[in-house]
Amino acid sequence: MITSYSRLSAYLRCPRQYSFRYIEDAPAECTPLPLVFGTAIHDACDSYLESLAYLPLDIDEMMDRYDEAMGDAVKLAEFNEAPIDFEEETPQDLRSLARRMLEVFRKGVDPNLKVVQTEIPIELTVGGIVLGGYMDILIDEGKDCYRIVDMKTSAKAMSQDTIDYDHQPTIYLEAARRMLGGPKSLKFEYWVLTKTKEPKFMKIEVARTARDFAELEETIRDAQAGVEACVFPRNRGWQCRGCQYAGKCKSPCGTRKPTQVVGAGMREGGASG
Ligand code: SF4
Repeated sequence: MITSYSRLSAYLRCPRQYSFRYIEDAPAECTPLPLVFGTAIHDACDSYLESLAYLPLDIDEMMDRYDEAMGDAVKLAEFNEAPIDFEEETPQDLRSLARRMLEVFRKGVDPNLKVVQTEIPIELTVGGIVLGGYMDILIDEGKDCYRIVDMKTSAKAMSQDTIDYDHQPTIYLEAARRMLGGPKSLKFEYWVLTKTKEPKFMKIEVARTARDFAELEETIRDAQAGVEACVFPRNRGWQCRGCQYAGKCKSPCGTRKPTQVVGAGMREGGASG
């Protein structure tokens, strides 16, 4: 079932990958480095934002958080027998990049920021389907005005298509509007930290309208119908690089058994995503 923004975006990115992960519960063949690295940077940034209310962490303390998160990820990858593919990178190169990124982040964040909370659980019912998730950061800007922030680490600047069409701001703005009881002002911003040699920190404010919400409802309905009807075509493209199921996906039908659709909106065995 489509139960979160992550699942929705996973289905839209590649339905076959969605099926491997959420329907078949197939073991991952590898742990993507961008995911591990992004999570470790994210953890360090979250810790910094939380520390603003007391004593802001210095860069070495932020690096401690990064090291801890990377160490945990390596252990988890070993436990899952899904090794991290470091490709050309060495852990030392990555650590040095992480430090440069975190320094840029520290400089770009106003230390007087009033962070309400990080990693806030949200729930939003759209077209009868309940979506859960976590909002990265909620900032109180005073006078009943709030800003939602979603942190991204990226190899390059965010594409205009993501800024214009990503469903995440639509979901989070609506969930926060309901959660906060309709505040006077509510904004959504991406904070993008680039993994370039000289990292950049960009704040990109995006707006969404009632029309975007209507489109979201339609997209969720369509994706849910696809899941229920077992429609999981491959979507070959950039998403195949580093895919955790690339080996399984190679054979003509993967290794999955052909799906038997037993009726409209039903799947044999009752499995759902
Ligand atoms: S390898 Fe590509 S097409 Fe196959 S599941 Fe992964 S992302 Fe989808």
